[in-house]
Amino acid sequence: METILLLVHTETDGSLARSAREALHAAATLHRTLDGSRLFVGLIGDNLQSAAGLIATSSATKYFGVTGPQLGEARYATDAAAVEAISKAAQATVVIAPATSRWARVLPGVAQRIGGCVDTHVTGITATDGKLLLSRWYYRQRIEGVLTRTQRPWFIAIDPGSQPACECGAGSATVEIVDVNLTEACKRTTVVGIREPKEDAQTIRPDAQLLFVAGAGWTKKQADGQTHVHEAERLILGFLKATRASLGSSKSLVDLSGDGQAVLPFLSHLNQIGQTGATPRHAKGLSTCCHGEEPHTVGWRFISERRAISLDPNCGWARGKADVLYVADAFAVVSKVNELLKQNP
Ligand SMILES: Cc1cc2nc3c(=O)[nH]c(=O)nc-3n(C[C@H](O)[C@H](O)[C@H](O)COP(=O)(O)OP(=O)(O)OC[C@H]3O[C@@H](n4cnc5c(N)ncnc54)[C@H](O)[C@@H]3O)c2cc1C
Repeated sequence: METILLLVHTETDGSLARSAREALHAAATLHRTLDGSRLFVGLIGDNLQSAAGLIATSSATKYFGVTGPQLGEARYATDAAAVEAISKAAQATVVIAPATSRWARVLPGVAQRIGGCVDTHVTGITATDGKLLLSRWYYRQRIEGVLTRTQRPWFIAIDPGSQPACECGAGSATVEIVDVNLTEACKRTTVVGIREPKEDAQTIRPDAQLLFVAGAGWTKKQADGQTHVHEAERLILGFLKATRASLGSSKSLVDLSGDGQAVLPFLSHLNQIGQTGATPRHAKGLSTCCHGEEPHTVGWRFISERRAISLDPNCGWARGKADVLYVADAFAVVSKVNELLKQNP
């Protein structure tokens, strides 16, 4: 009989992130399909009661918590001690957690510490004939693998964006507090603050409906024999401001800065989509001024509807990689779209 533990950390305001609700959806679905299993919730953070209340109508029957001011922030040593204690208290055989940056750093270490195993980048969990099966992608999202393990406890980190979020509502839940001895050695690392870009400088928005991808064409000589990089910058930022889309880039465009060429200053390698870049998940994607070569389109694996604007009717997008290709000048198209968005925000 499996004891499934959903392991989540609270946000600084005491809430739960969407990725936590996605992991809960995966855990609750597995619990439903795995006969005789139990579902518990493990919460870690500074203030747990309100977070437990937010998901109190889930099918979990017990809530465990490790709390204290030292757990309000991410720190490997304290988080690892808390995860170890909560997994043992719940006697978990399967621990399902969202692959947040906080958990991604801690789970493999804890699995090793308590003689378990871990799988990361998991995008699906099912059970067939009482056997737990999980799926994940390999070789830059080109091959999907399904695997099972007998070793327990089995830590499973679910990729954010790969599941629907659990719709379970609020109520009241009693959290059983688990004591952890956080030694002085655990607290040697101190968190002195968080540095993050200003709200409008943050162009990577995983929750956006639309991914807008800029290619190197934005910086190339246009029909008049000139480059129009400032115009490109104005159009792209105008589009992002109006739509709150997430911004992606081709490798060629982000690499241009290294070659000393005219570049778009708000792009970094973090925006790069593709084989050597990110594979984001969005409902729709619009590629602009980009060729659509294989290593680039690998990053579009989880974009449901793909459209592209390119001057080249023979580019990779036209060869079956986009659902819709507009053979057009992206400067003209985006300028017109921005104008329409201004009229109908
Ligand atoms: C091992 C390896 C890994 C790689 N990994 C990645 C990766 O992770 N991500 C990635 O992106 N690439 C990757 N690449 C590079 C990839 O193969 C392409 O070279 C790159 O994606 C091309 O970028 P681009 O389409 O922006 O530029 P270009 O190939 O220069 O294409 C620019 C396009 O813009 C169009 N254009 C120009 N002006 C306009 C206009 N006004 N309106 C409309 N269209 C216009 C042109 O017609 C052209 O099609 C990798 C390559 C290798 C070898």
